[in-house]
Amino acid sequence: MGGINLGQGICDQPAPEEIKTASIAAIRADRSTYSKFEGIDELRARIAEKMAAYNGISCDPATQVIVTVGSTGGFAIACLALVDEGDEAVLFSPFYSYHVNILKLCGARMRFVTMRPPDWQYDPAELEAAFGPRTRIVVVNTPSNPSGKVYTREELEGVARLCQKWGAVAITDEIYEYILYDGHRHVSLGSLPGMEDRTVTLSGFSKTYSMTGWRLGYAVASPELSARLGVLNDLLYICAPTPLQHGVAAAFGLPPAYYEDLKRSYASKLDLITSACASAGLETIRPQGSYYLLADISRLGLESDKKASAYLLERAGVTSVPGSSFHADPADGRRQVRFCFAKKDEDLAEACRRIRALA
Ligand code: PLP
Repeated sequence: MGGINLGQGICDQPAPEEIKTASIAAIRADRSTYSKFEGIDELRARIAEKMAAYNGISCDPATQVIVTVGSTGGFAIACLALVDEGDEAVLFSPFYSYHVNILKLCGARMRFVTMRPPDWQYDPAELEAAFGPRTRIVVVNTPSNPSGKVYTREELEGVARLCQKWGAVAITDEIYEYILYDGHRHVSLGSLPGMEDRTVTLSGFSKTYSMTGWRLGYAVASPELSARLGVLNDLLYICAPTPLQHGVAAAFGLPPAYYEDLKRSYASKLDLITSACASAGLETIRPQGSYYLLADISRLGLESDKKASAYLLERAGVTSVPGSSFHADPADGRRQVRFCFAKKDEDLAEACRRIRALA
């Protein structure tokens, strides 16, 4: 039996033809030299238009947009530019492990705020207590991996108020901004009043256009913050891959129907895997966005999430990620595994058939 990987967040779907065609043309035309460290002008102009139209953030493409090596490259340069050894970083748990690990590399001291299912709301008092005079940054990920939480405007206002009170900068990872369910709407923290000069907004092409291996993302921030990020982008990468920058500019010509189809397609994949889990007696927590599903493994009768992941692999040939790896207190995730359902329909259908067969 061949294994099916529902573990890693790779997005196993075809990328849009328009982007492939434009990239191939750029390669054939030998648009192969380094670009400016902040990226090609045409792409930054398109990103700025999109930020105004979709995120409610108006920015100057000349001084406020940096094309990065994936949003991960954007997160790394933001942390390196802003965080010194011993500075405190506020993060919400469950978290995306790259955020925590990159911050560890920078020597940050982590202050976690626990989000609790099913809505994953934070406790305002706990958030307030996590901030203090040493707080340098807060990390927000909306829609979130692994919980699928989509932050409401009110929740973001709470974060914004504390950033302003303590002089902290928000780094907000919005890579799943178009993958939303049940009428949830994406709100960008950087669009809130008073956050213009203290937010680094990160997004990219990996998830929206199914091209995780192309390594293209972007960071949007005030001119002052962007200048600091730009130095790091130059130092670490020189620039993002130039011919592919020309290619992904075509993404911004895709019609609104593309984004509606994306949502619809993920919603139907979500329904498929939710019902497979239910048939196997695994209760799930419905995500509000992103393409992950957390499933409660209690019914398998195994003592831990790691044993459950091993069991799913051995019995069903399906990879999952043990829930404890996402939590500040591993005990919070010990009854969960995470499935990624960004798979081709036929592979997801087979994985679901195998999960059902566990019953
Ligand atoms: N941010 C989050 C929350 C993710 O889940 C992932 C991938 O799984 C990434 C960033 C990676 O994005 P990129 O490919 O743009 O580096």
